[in-house]
Amino acid sequence: MGKKALKFNSKTIHGGQFPDKAYGAVMPPIYQTSTYAQTTPGGHKGFGYSRSANPTRTALENALASIENGNYGLAFGSGLAAIDAVLKLLKPGDEVVSTNDLYGGSYRLFKRIFEQYGIVFHFVGMQNAAAIEERINKNTKLIWVETPSNPMMNIIDIKAVSQLARKHGIWFAVDNTFATPYLQLPLDLGADIVMHSATKYLGGHSDVVLGALVVKDKELADQLYFIQNASGAVCGPMDSFLVLRGIKTLHVRMQRHCENGRAIAEYLSKHPKIEKVYWPGFADHPNHEVAKNQMKDFGGMISFVPKGADYNTAIKIVEKLEVFTLAESLGGVESLAGHPASMTHASIPKEEREKSGVVDSLIRLSVGIEDVDDLIEDLKQAIQQ
Ligand SMILES: *Cc1c(COP(=O)(O)O)cnc(C)c1O
Repeated sequence: MGKKALKFNSKTIHGGQFPDKAYGAVMPPIYQTSTYAQTTPGGHKGFGYSRSANPTRTALENALASIENGNYGLAFGSGLAAIDAVLKLLKPGDEVVSTNDLYGGSYRLFKRIFEQYGIVFHFVGMQNAAAIEERINKNTKLIWVETPSNPMMNIIDIKAVSQLARKHGIWFAVDNTFATPYLQLPLDLGADIVMHSATKYLGGHSDVVLGALVVKDKELADQLYFIQNASGAVCGPMDSFLVLRGIKTLHVRMQRHCENGRAIAEYLSKHPKIEKVYWPGFADHPNHEVAKNQMKDFGGMISFVPKGADYNTAIKIVEKLEVFTLAESLGGVESLAGHPASMTHASIPKEEREKSGVVDSLIRLSVGIEDVDDLIEDLKQAIQQ
């Protein structure tokens, strides 16, 4: 059977992978080298210089393309470096329509770096795809979407947005960091570009920072490859190896993240001291039906607001947690808690933040794969105080 025909849970392990040509090593060796011997100028075995290509990175890029049902994968030094490469497809005067509820670092990159170069950004709520069309004009080149969004867990209809993008001939990129290809496959739903902070679920062990892009179209892949090589924000072979190893257990970890996430979302929603829980698996989540259609399950990311809490109460709760670690980031095997207003989203101005629901008392959980009883006990004691 061809490797293309494999099911997802096999692709995470075998997709795009071949035993190493030198000794048949089952895991690709960490080719910790910058350069490669040539027999005659240009006479090499496909690798000339490690910014342009490195065999360990190539193995990872092939795995990424496989699990996202794309044809081309590109790996970068971080998620933001991957987004940076996408934005370099644009020219001064080009416009981007982006979701208003996005990762703080993405917002900072758009506003503080690329606005200086004449790229125009519009931030809109995209739970209703029609709101996007109002912002599209002849200069619009890219639609940027995160779903589920960070940290409000809003769901955007990928298929509806991709139809809009197609109609207007614009690129459509989805940051698939939260969902991972285990839960949703944006390229199959019509997106042109899938982006990942592989630092999160793909790596899965909080031991590496890495970013990725996956596309189907050859011409777009060539342009992105040109940028990857010309700008040079590539990841090293050791980091490529770590993410490749992480991907091999992605499906097993995600299954448990989803199970634990569901149990904790339900626990919090019944807790008398909790005002609001944001998790797309609830039937009363505004876009629950879309989530059910485009996602296999609902993931391990949950945000919540304690009743009558302010900035300081929220901080006290996250400080009191013992099994959950208070930390930036998400998607690792260990459970993490964060306070978006002072941590991940501190770079977004307060008014801008609160417009999308990121209030001072919001707490975000990345539910890990520990025993769920321990996690619930931990939340119980922290909320109780
Ligand atoms: C972390 C994150 C990023 C940025 O990725 P880095 O690897 O930290 O550069 C982008 N988007 C989302 C949704 C993230 O969570």
